[in-house]
Amino acid sequence: MSASRKLASFRLPPLPTVGELIKLYNLRAEKQLSQNFLLDLRLTDKLVRQAGSLRDAHVCEVGPGPGGLTRSILNAGAADVLVVEKDSRFIPGLKLLSEAAPGKLRIVHGDILNYRMDRGFPRNISKSWEEDLPNLHIIGNLPFSVATPLIIKWLENIANRTGPFVYGRTRLTLTFQKEVAERLTASTGSRQRSRLSVMAQYLCTVRNCFTIPGRAFVPKPEVDVGVVHFTPLVQPQIQQPFKLVEKVVRNIFQFRRKFCHKGVEKLFPEACRMELTQEMMQKADVDPTVRPTELTIPQVRALVDAYAYLSAHDPHLLNYEYREELRLKHLARQKKVPVDTFMDM
Ligand code: SAM
Repeated sequence: MSASRKLASFRLPPLPTVGELIKLYNLRAEKQLSQNFLLDLRLTDKLVRQAGSLRDAHVCEVGPGPGGLTRSILNAGAADVLVVEKDSRFIPGLKLLSEAAPGKLRIVHGDILNYRMDRGFPRNISKSWEEDLPNLHIIGNLPFSVATPLIIKWLENIANRTGPFVYGRTRLTLTFQKEVAERLTASTGSRQRSRLSVMAQYLCTVRNCFTIPGRAFVPKPEVDVGVVHFTPLVQPQIQQPFKLVEKVVRNIFQFRRKFCHKGVEKLFPEACRMELTQEMMQKADVDPTVRPTELTIPQVRALVDAYAYLSAHDPHLLNYEYREELRLKHLARQKKVPVDTFMDM
């Protein structure tokens, strides 16, 4: 039997069940850390299958907790699994798992929000961006409060090819609150179409894989959970710096139900607001009365390109933030000082 066949057929030896481990190490879920565990191995196997083949793969699992998902990743034939767990109570149970899968499981006790994944794997697994996908996956069932900031950070990393994406187009399979999963994958015109839909979809192919009912978790969360798979695109659909795209999209979607020109207006200081909004809409050739949720990605691209063009002519525009202006005006009213005093800070 070839070495890779052996790896693919690797099965963990008999171990205490995840439930037994939880009892053994007294791993009560911490409500403050939004810990909800998946104990059903058929469900964790299903989640892991959404990543595609893990044969000989390198995997970073975020938030392994008692290790149910980790077992499924190992059983799927991954060669090198790096787990990053913040809560030290889970480390002994993970060590037990590591002993059962010699040389396959590396444990990092740390916070995924700070972890330098660009240093976590050998560089020789990298593939050039345009080439094949690297055999590296990120998989995780994270608390909702961490999953959303993390995906925003990773989308920026995709745009800049940094962090986990120094190895190429690393794929991600992650859980989110069901509504967030729907927003991430919502198409143009759908009710859930939002800022997150555009930010994710201009950079990735995004797939809403399946929904896990809340009752499948221990303890049961208030909401259902969506599993989402991301594959970074070879060519982002918008070719402008991430921060610039983020600014335009954030402004457009701040008035989701209004005409899109309403949000576009807020990209510009009051003195030139009407004139530059008109110029931007014309340059982008987008109907100002389209609703933000109805904008296609090519239309958003045209708007971002038009804003980049206007900003190149007047770089001050890049620093202008409508919400910041509102905040300063509010502060000035409270302190009864001229707005300009704050604007210069
Ligand atoms: N993966 C396990 C499962 O599916 O049963 C546990 C899921 S539980 C929802 C989330 C896990 O992520 C917990 O073990 C928690 O301690 C861990 N976690 C939370 N925030 C984290 C962070 N910032 N970095 C790393 N791990 C984190």
